[in-house]
Amino acid sequence: MNLNGKKVAVLGCGRSGVAAAHLAAVHGAAHVRVFDSNPQAVCADATVDFVGGATEKEARDFAADLVVISPGIEADKPWALAFTCAGAPIIGEMELAFRYFSGRIIAITGTNGKTTTTALIEHILLHAGRSAKACGNYGYPLSEVVLEDPQPEFAVLEVSSFQLETIQSFKPEVAVWLNFAPDHMDRYTKVNDYHEAKLRIFENMEAEQIAIIRVGEKIPDIRPRIVEFSAYEGSGLLRYEGTCIKQIDTIVADLKDTALSHAHNAENAMAAILACRAVGLKDGQIVPALADFEPPHHRCELVEEKQGVLWLNDSKSTNLHSTEAAIRSQTRPVILLIGGKDKGLDYTPLLSTMQGKVRLCIVFGQIAKQLERTFSSVYETICVETVGEAVQVAASRATVGDVVLFSPGTSSFDQYKSYAQRGDDYCQAVRKIFHI
Ligand code: ADP
Repeated sequence: MNLNGKKVAVLGCGRSGVAAAHLAAVHGAAHVRVFDSNPQAVCADATVDFVGGATEKEARDFAADLVVISPGIEADKPWALAFTCAGAPIIGEMELAFRYFSGRIIAITGTNGKTTTTALIEHILLHAGRSAKACGNYGYPLSEVVLEDPQPEFAVLEVSSFQLETIQSFKPEVAVWLNFAPDHMDRYTKVNDYHEAKLRIFENMEAEQIAIIRVGEKIPDIRPRIVEFSAYEGSGLLRYEGTCIKQIDTIVADLKDTALSHAHNAENAMAAILACRAVGLKDGQIVPALADFEPPHHRCELVEEKQGVLWLNDSKSTNLHSTEAAIRSQTRPVILLIGGKDKGLDYTPLLSTMQGKVRLCIVFGQIAKQLERTFSSVYETICVETVGEAVQVAASRATVGDVVLFSPGTSSFDQYKSYAQRGDDYCQAVRKIFHI
């Protein structure tokens, strides 16, 4: 893509917008300006030409040749469209960066497990002595990777549906599809729109490239070769038995002494193994790296084991599907702490997963009453307001052998700034109970 002499409007002044602005400037754009519709928005990089509180008139007056949009901004809304009035195309930050990246891309999408799997693939590649960077939705924009000198051999790219909405030519060498479940109904009006956006990961891939897909996912005909895995079904190339990942009857990896032994993390490990094989690594280079991998915090993480009770922090569970996975992975009676912001999700499907696993529900936050209505006819359900109160009730009711599972199943924004702040609050409340 030739940006020489072009005017580029970058929408959104967050980290990916700033990185995209620098990338466009490095590649010859004559004028790059970052716009944000929020009058309070502050651009962290003072060297960038920035307009906060930008109006649609300012958008039209800029008369961009190219519009680069950050994933948090919707491309089909009037504010973004105003920048295209002179006929400029809109692409996402990831698409822009893709056009200037000379390395190999392993892209990971799915409703849950993206961050864990992205981190794991990067860990394996680094362990094998290759240069790799976990990036994208992971918190490190691809544009920053592209600006590195030299660029790494691999971009291990966590890809959200929002980023996929604004691709054109984006084509990873290997694509991983972990799973799909309804989510983000605050951005999409239909579940199918979310599914269609995610499917775009395969859109430009060729027949000799590889798509790694969980068994049973609804995927239409796609060009790349499909390799399947599942911790729950036996029909993929890799399956899970006891604590072992197996291929036919051969043990590929025993996850017993790793931090990946929960079934959903075993799926992440399978996907990572297959992705690393797809770029040429041998199992002898891949499997030893699983032993010292530490999953990112707030994902089914052990906080304390006290008086025979396990206290788990799964604050990153922001949808039903991840809470289902967390419950399914438990082998002890579960006291479930669930609640948070109303995202428009229906929690009835959880009832069957809870069967035989959950002995008490403690519901909190904005959706507490909705959850109480959904669960209380089948499970004992206690309704409280805050996470701290939920922890206190759990402590008063837990007995030896239980697991207290904090897996909120929705986002934290009713009471917190982030899932991390919510998780920290939970951990603090647990430690306070035990005077730690
Ligand atoms: P993402 O980046 O897709 O949000 P994370 O790795 O951050 O994924 O995990 C988010 C939540 O999903 C956590 O609660 C975690 O325990 C759960 N989780 C991780 N991997 C899986 C998986 N393969 N299937 C279902 N849930 C998962």
